[in-house]
Amino acid sequence: MPIQEKPTSSEADADLYATRSADITVPKFRFPKGEMRPDVAEALIRDELFLDGNARQNLATFGQTWMEPEIHRLMDLAIDKNMIDKDEYPATAEIERRCVSILADLWNAPELKNSIGCATIGSSEAAMLGGLALKWRWREKAKAAGRPTDRPNIVTGPVQVCWHKFARYFDVEIREIPLERDRISMNAEEVLKRVDENTIAVMPTFGVTFTCQYEPVAEIAAALDKLQAETGLDIPIHVDAASGGFTAPFKEPDMAWDFRIPRVASINASGHKYGLAPLGVGWVVWRDKSDLPDDLIFWVNYLGGNMPTFALNFSRPGGQIIAQYYLFLRLGRDGYRRLLDNMYDTAAHIAQEIVKIGPFHLFFDGDSKKGIPGVSWMLKQDGAPSWSLFDLSDRLRTRGWQAAAYTMLPNITDVVVMRVLVRHGFTRDMADLFLEDVKRSIEYLETHKPATPLGKESQQTPHHALSKGALPAKAP
Ligand SMILES: *Cc1c(COP(=O)(O)O)cnc(C)c1O
Repeated sequence: MPIQEKPTSSEADADLYATRSADITVPKFRFPKGEMRPDVAEALIRDELFLDGNARQNLATFGQTWMEPEIHRLMDLAIDKNMIDKDEYPATAEIERRCVSILADLWNAPELKNSIGCATIGSSEAAMLGGLALKWRWREKAKAAGRPTDRPNIVTGPVQVCWHKFARYFDVEIREIPLERDRISMNAEEVLKRVDENTIAVMPTFGVTFTCQYEPVAEIAAALDKLQAETGLDIPIHVDAASGGFTAPFKEPDMAWDFRIPRVASINASGHKYGLAPLGVGWVVWRDKSDLPDDLIFWVNYLGGNMPTFALNFSRPGGQIIAQYYLFLRLGRDGYRRLLDNMYDTAAHIAQEIVKIGPFHLFFDGDSKKGIPGVSWMLKQDGAPSWSLFDLSDRLRTRGWQAAAYTMLPNITDVVVMRVLVRHGFTRDMADLFLEDVKRSIEYLETHKPATPLGKESQQTPHHALSKGALPAKAP
């Protein structure tokens, strides 16, 4: 009998899938006792992350999912830079300052040197800062006029959750205008019904998360101008341009929604949405230094000068800001515009084709004058199929696509839409692959009726039945 040779190679030489660590159940919820080879640890995590699916096929997210190799390199270079250390990393601080000025320019601030702003971790933090500055300004004015300062409010359309957070965290009442079947955003009339002397600002969303559409900033501003002329009430506007702040300026440069409107005091946008930067950067810019109360600014020593900081975070990665600057430099207005031309074309293509594929009624067709490069649709009311948009969304997942199906906000929560956002890195070819899969999914759903547990019909979520309605006449 041959003597079995002991392996001569060590654990260090083994193929990573031949190591002991690859042969055990890894502890997941307790601090591990010993070490593990780095390549093995990396492989374990990398392999688990496959379960996340493919970000490029996520058509629900607004966030960036494709980046040029140059951005990967700059991010790597900046991995050790803390944005708050303005003193130690003056070049990075300078780049942030330039980006703020570039954005003030893009958003048509009347005097670049008078505007002020900062990078944040996203639009949510930027919204908090914009809201806080307005709350401070309102309080100073109310105090000076001898009015009570305990009941501030904001007036908004259908907002992203960050404004609900702002309202709760900073004790401000939110007066959110409910949607109606024939009105899916704020308008001047509804705003005027809700503003009063305790309104710190009206906050239109320029690119509503749920509808993709721009709210009418100019119309709201004109109504507030009239209100001021009649009553003396002077209510500023903050624009939540999380998405639209990086689409309209390139695609519809003549559309005035920004600092060209004197009543617009501040604007926030997400660098990591249509700003095309990696996740983790947002921006807030004020028209004028006087719009940001001194009380809220903390001064940090900066190479003999003094650097204003105004942020909820302290330590923060610098790479995203550097990448944002790279994108401004690399693309310029022309580059952003060309990318958006393709994105809007692709959105229009999907809008045109999707209605041929299924019993769909367009909710938003990706018109660049009305909103961001996305498309959304509902099921037609008559001749609705046995499946819902939730079933379709589920089915598309089997091919890796993530297309969001969701219900609308009050008062039209019975309206169900499916939305697709067209982003950097999504080609016409990918759109066609997606459309093919929608077709295939519908064929499947038509031949395999979605399972309904026996006797559960009456308990099913209303979505299934109600998503058939193209803005049905009345909610049950
Ligand atoms: C995404 C979004 C936000 C939140 O932005 P983050 O960058 O994700 O923090 C706020 N408002 C609107 C309209 C958005 O689309």
